[in-house]
Amino acid sequence: MMVPVRCFTCGKPVGEHWDEYKARAATQEGDEDPEEVLDDLGLDRYCCRRMLVSHDDLVDVVSPYQ
Ligand SMILES: [Zn+2]
Repeated sequence: MMVPVRCFTCGKPVGEHWDEYKARAATQEGDEDPEEVLDDLGLDRYCCRRMLVSHDDLVDVVSPYQ
Protein backbone atom coordinates (compact mmCIF):
# COMPACT_ATOMS: atom_id res chain seq x y z
CA MET A 1 0.00 0.00 0.00
CA MET A 2 1.13 3.59 0.47
CA VAL A 3 4.07 4.25 2.76
CA PRO A 4 2.93 5.22 6.29
CA VAL A 5 3.40 8.90 7.09
CA ARG A 6 4.76 8.24 10.58
CA CYS A 7 6.70 5.45 12.27
CA PHE A 8 4.23 3.10 14.00
CA THR A 9 6.42 2.80 17.10
CA CYS A 10 7.89 6.25 17.84
CA GLY A 11 5.79 8.58 15.65
CA LYS A 12 8.66 10.18 13.74
CA PRO A 13 7.60 11.31 10.23
CA VAL A 14 9.11 8.86 7.73
CA GLY A 15 6.80 9.12 4.70
CA GLU A 16 8.60 12.21 3.42
CA HIS A 17 11.76 10.13 2.90
CA TRP A 18 10.18 7.38 0.79
CA ASP A 19 10.73 8.95 -2.65
CA GLU A 20 14.44 9.53 -2.03
CA TYR A 21 14.91 6.11 -0.44
CA LYS A 22 13.16 4.43 -3.35
CA ALA A 23 15.21 6.30 -5.93
CA ARG A 24 18.52 5.57 -4.22
CA ALA A 25 18.18 2.14 -2.63
CA ALA A 26 14.93 0.30 -3.34
CA THR A 27 15.27 -2.85 -5.39
CA GLN A 28 15.70 -2.50 -9.16
CA GLU A 29 15.62 1.30 -9.03
CA GLY A 30 18.67 2.37 -7.04
CA ASP A 31 21.89 0.55 -6.32
CA GLU A 32 23.14 2.32 -3.18
CA ASP A 33 23.51 0.52 0.13
CA PRO A 34 20.20 0.91 2.03
CA GLU A 35 22.13 1.25 5.30
CA GLU A 36 23.99 4.33 4.04
CA VAL A 37 20.87 5.90 2.52
CA LEU A 38 18.96 5.54 5.80
CA ASP A 39 21.90 7.09 7.67
CA ASP A 40 21.90 10.03 5.21
CA LEU A 41 18.17 10.51 5.70
CA GLY A 42 18.65 10.80 9.47
CA LEU A 43 16.67 7.68 10.33
CA ASP A 44 18.74 6.36 13.24
CA ARG A 45 16.26 4.20 15.14
CA TYR A 46 15.60 0.71 13.85
CA CYS A 47 11.85 1.17 14.35
CA CYS A 48 11.92 3.98 11.74
CA ARG A 49 14.35 2.17 9.43
CA ARG A 50 12.12 -0.88 9.19
CA MET A 51 9.26 1.34 7.97
CA LEU A 52 11.11 2.02 4.72
CA VAL A 53 13.08 -1.22 4.40
CA SER A 54 9.97 -3.40 4.71
CA HIS A 55 7.69 -1.20 2.58
CA ASP A 56 6.43 -2.27 -0.86
CA ASP A 57 4.26 -0.04 -3.06
CA LEU A 58 1.14 -2.10 -3.73
CA VAL A 59 -1.43 0.69 -3.98
CA ASP A 60 -1.55 0.52 -7.79
CA VAL A 61 -2.00 -3.26 -7.66
CA VAL A 62 -4.78 -3.25 -5.08
CA SER A 63 -6.75 -0.12 -5.99
CA PRO A 64 -8.76 -1.62 -8.92
CA TYR A 65 -10.35 -4.09 -6.49
CA GLN A 66 -11.59 -1.58 -3.91
ZN1 LIG B 1 10.53 5.05 14.85
